[in-house]
Amino acid sequence: MEVSNQPPPPSDWVTRSLRSVWHPCTQMQHHETVPLIPVSHGRGAWLFDQEGKRYLDAISSWWVNLFGHANPRINAALKDQLDKLEHAMLAGFTHEPVIELSEKLSALTDHQLGHCFYASDGASAVEIALKMSFHAWRNAGLGGKQEFVCLKGSYHGETIGALAVTDVALFRDAYGPLLRQAHVVMSPDARNAEAGETEADVARRAAQDVEKLFEKRAGNIAAVIVEPLVQCATGMAMHDPLYLAEVRALCDRFQVHMIADEIAVGCGRTGTFFACEQGQIWPDFLCLSKGISGGYLPLSLVMTSDAVYQAFYSEDVRRGFLHSHSYTGNPLACRAALATLAIFEEDDVLAQNRVRANKLRAALAPLATHDKVRHFRQRGMIFAFDAVVDDAAATTFSRRFFSAALGQELLLRPIGKTVYLMPPYILDDAEIDLLAQRTHAVFDMVLRS
Ligand SMILES: *Cc1c(COP(=O)(O)O)cnc(C)c1O
Repeated sequence: MEVSNQPPPPSDWVTRSLRSVWHPCTQMQHHETVPLIPVSHGRGAWLFDQEGKRYLDAISSWWVNLFGHANPRINAALKDQLDKLEHAMLAGFTHEPVIELSEKLSALTDHQLGHCFYASDGASAVEIALKMSFHAWRNAGLGGKQEFVCLKGSYHGETIGALAVTDVALFRDAYGPLLRQAHVVMSPDARNAEAGETEADVARRAAQDVEKLFEKRAGNIAAVIVEPLVQCATGMAMHDPLYLAEVRALCDRFQVHMIADEIAVGCGRTGTFFACEQGQIWPDFLCLSKGISGGYLPLSLVMTSDAVYQAFYSEDVRRGFLHSHSYTGNPLACRAALATLAIFEEDDVLAQNRVRANKLRAALAPLATHDKVRHFRQRGMIFAFDAVVDDAAATTFSRRFFSAALGQELLLRPIGKTVYLMPPYILDDAEIDLLAQRTHAVFDMVLRS
């Protein structure tokens, strides 16, 4: 790219951004050919660029936006909160939004996970769950439990601790030497089914892999971390809810904690508020982030049980959980989360989403039976399928698809050859049809090119 010495005009966001902003998850050189989209505003499911072109945000801006951009109810709550309290430290102080949010979330787990610890992003929530698990065992006199178990293809964030329980080569490989090795067990991904096997059979087989490991090493293992129902970042790998029940039972039998990372799959994404509900279990730790603030502000939290909480409760400072982040429990973020939970209640969102998901599934039916489509799958408001292209061509496919989709007013970013839709919970019938038809058109365009 030509970098001129002339300062760009102030309206030239693209040039200025590429000079000074290092964009996430991006080989910056690709922006020599792939355009950067300067977003000026958002409204409902749509993002608008500086020229007024619109894009249907069919991936909820990296899975965070649940009720659309510039949602009037969340905006109003935030404006009200802004004039009351923008932030106060949460050590030694408390405030109404964090109390109400903790109570509401606790109630949603039937008070099984009644203690909420706050942070700002998903990876930090995962770090907290890992540290808390280890420390709880240590406080119980089981300091030898220092190892963690994750699933093949798992994704739990990209800080050093979270990356250690992440099994996505693209994110992990460069930093391998820095990471503490975790045990990687078989994924219950239903696509692993062998001839004659059901999804439940795959789940049982994957659970046996955990059992074998526990039989050998449970005395050294603090926790197993799972993405319940859908391993999103590896490519929307879906599994039978039975897996969750099986892992819960093994964790009970072998004295190992179960961490449910619901950062992507929580907040109604899979059809129930928490994905774990479909396995009819509660984990020892449940991580939430992404959608919890409606996609407005960075907020994450770890919910845990009375048993874990009690393991830290003592006169001794060092037995406490001395972890903190500057913005822990930020009132604005908590208020956005409360407004988000209020929408779930007021609009009976889970029921509305069942209707919405059925319509989208029906609209996608021609794609599901396309001869270049494999493994069309859906869970709640997640839809995915794999394109029949060579593995070697997967990256090119994904980049071409992204660009072609933008040309059709869609924001879609396939993961390798997996195309997925993770739309906000507000699409109307016209938007559902537009999304399905144009996804199909883009798919055909990319396969032809
Ligand atoms: C996005 C994600 C994370 C990490 O959250 P960040 O806010 O990006 O740090 C962790 N686990 C899962 C399952 C995720 O989808």
